[in-house]
Amino acid sequence: RAYNFNAGPAALPLEVLERAQKQFVEFENSGMSLMEMSHRGAVYEKVHFEAVALLRELMGIPHNYKVLFIQGGASTQFAMVPMNLIKSGKAPAYIATGSWATKAIQEAKMFGDITIAASTEADQYRRVPAINELQYSEDTSYLHLTSNETIEGTQWREYPDTGSVPLIGDLSSDILCRPIDVSQFAVIYAGAQKNLGPSGVTIVIIREDLIGQPDLPVPTMLRYSTHAKADSLYNTPPTFAVYMMNETLKWLKEQGGAAAMEQRNREKARLLYEVIDGSSGFYRGFAEPGSRSIMNVTFRLGSEELDKKFVKESEAEGFVGLKGHRSVGGMRASIYNAVPVESVRALVNFMKDFQSRNG
Ligand code: PLP
Repeated sequence: RAYNFNAGPAALPLEVLERAQKQFVEFENSGMSLMEMSHRGAVYEKVHFEAVALLRELMGIPHNYKVLFIQGGASTQFAMVPMNLIKSGKAPAYIATGSWATKAIQEAKMFGDITIAASTEADQYRRVPAINELQYSEDTSYLHLTSNETIEGTQWREYPDTGSVPLIGDLSSDILCRPIDVSQFAVIYAGAQKNLGPSGVTIVIIREDLIGQPDLPVPTMLRYSTHAKADSLYNTPPTFAVYMMNETLKWLKEQGGAAAMEQRNREKARLLYEVIDGSSGFYRGFAEPGSRSIMNVTFRLGSEELDKKFVKESEAEGFVGLKGHRSVGGMRASIYNAVPVESVRALVNFMKDFQSRNG
């Protein structure tokens, strides 16, 4: 298998793919594939509710939260959050930390005024703000943050305690990479395609008191209440994506859950940042050390020419997905839960070797 460092869709555990392959044509002696079954039947429902229960267990989701499976990606949540949660006359507050936060902000502006609680744009989004930099009114509809900026490679270490202000988190690129206290958030959303499975399903974890009648007019499919009332079975869910997520969650549990993932992810990140920091400037980390992500490691070489050479030679050696996003340039190694430590060790060796040949 390739050394897969793709940013998303991202590597899946080999065990999950093999299990799915075995069940692909015929699911549990049913005479058909799971994809060919009614989503109202007992067989699919078991998979669906098992995935909800596993996510609850692995994330320690309190009883007063609902877990929803929605389509449209995290990008649709950029609109659903403001549509459902803006209270008339109470501008929501956003934290501008990078490319994805900016997309969330642009979308929210379609529904009225917003405020910026903090922005690190002046630092080229190389860091997340300190908690004491945040400025927002107690009367805001909510405060939105992006837990991990996938493109810039920054990540919050700890989240702000917002008291009675609902905290909304986009955890698309770091959900279940470490244990978190879900009760700090009013809403967490995440596309599945990095840490939870293939693309096609988006997870929304929402505190029940926020699932009411929105102040704005909201189409049926874009209302949280529609999906909450129907246990995410209001319309046809992405059954295969939910099945794959369930298998990925089972794997995550077998591996030891969020705490074990954190240990592994920290080790993978440590290995890469160690090479960057020890390279005497040959490799330059993009994110400031205090804001470095344990999911997306961003770095550059001394020139665009060297960057290109690195990408080309790494591809020839079986490394996939290392070219950074065009807006940041350089390199990005995405080391989500399913990326084995062995892939990272191989990359570390390649980086050292490349430096010795080009340094
Ligand atoms: N938010 C973050 C942090 C992301 O990394 C991404 C995708 O890479 C998105 C949102 C958008 O997700 P989707 O492609 O599921 O709409």
